[in-house]
Amino acid sequence: MRAVVFKEHGGPEKLQMAEMPEPKPGPEEVLVRVRACALNHLDLWVRQGLGFPIEMPHIGGSDIAGEIADVGARVRHLRVGQRVIISPGISCGWCAQCAGGNDSQCAEFDIMGLRRQGGYAEFAKAHMKDIHPVSDRLGFDEWAAVPLVFLTAWHMLVSRARLRPGETVLIHAAGSGIGSAAIQIAKLCGARVLTTAGSDAKLDMAKRLGADAGINYIREDFAERALQETGGCGVDVVFEHIGPDTWPRNLRCMGRGARMVFCGATAGPQASVDIRMTFLKQHSLIGCYMGGRRELMEVLRLVEAGKLRPVLDRRFGMAEVAAAQERMAQRKHFGKIVVRW
Ligand SMILES: [Zn+2]
Repeated sequence: MRAVVFKEHGGPEKLQMAEMPEPKPGPEEVLVRVRACALNHLDLWVRQGLGFPIEMPHIGGSDIAGEIADVGARVRHLRVGQRVIISPGISCGWCAQCAGGNDSQCAEFDIMGLRRQGGYAEFAKAHMKDIHPVSDRLGFDEWAAVPLVFLTAWHMLVSRARLRPGETVLIHAAGSGIGSAAIQIAKLCGARVLTTAGSDAKLDMAKRLGADAGINYIREDFAERALQETGGCGVDVVFEHIGPDTWPRNLRCMGRGARMVFCGATAGPQASVDIRMTFLKQHSLIGCYMGGRRELMEVLRLVEAGKLRPVLDRRFGMAEVAAAQERMAQRKHFGKIVVRW
């Protein structure tokens, strides 16, 4: 099969179309003909190298939509030709964490395209429990844009922050895939959404997704503005995935008893925290990582019902993965970048 691979870590120039062996599904596995694969920042980090060895040549790509091409002998509930997405998070399915619905806490937790081969290929395989049938209400490129960001944002806002109707949430980077998902989920929870972006055009798009107020972080201090918007009380929840620049100011604009949920550090790993401010106001700082199968099913049900919808930035051909990743690195996008055959 054809696949976009890298044979050593480095920049986008390391990506190349190559001939790779077609994956063979085991008895409980399903082979999926990939129609579309959405990009995530993770793809860039895996390509650059995360400090642990991975199988080379490596196929990246975590968000896969396509059709079932083959099923293993013990697969009863799925059939060839069905439209599906593959769960981006892969866990063992039998340990205590998996049994409790905390799949991303599983000691064997992995992500498609991280340690295992991903979706920039003609075919990808996964265990039958990680295959989710989807309708034709959306195209494959739109379905590919759903799983990772909506699952992570749902886990953060609904499961971890327990966002309530009437609360105010500050969502960073409206133009990111996860920001555009979080805005919609927060509105579904009945919250008031403040969001940030680096351009007014992105803020206009965020408002069309339901954001109540947009903050251009280049022109104004988001913490000052968040305090103004809440009459000096501060926000109830901060949705954080940036890093050193935002952490101290997040804490400044968090109200009493507020929660910060965070899932990443795209701008760097170290941040300073004024401990006094955090305990006096009884803040909760809640680390989050992806989510579980049950949460993914909840998200898919809401997408099927038209309550959540993926936001697509631009589509590229599968041969243009390098250009697609460069667009993501330059942060010009609003929503998800997708590659497809
Ligand atoms: Zn497990």
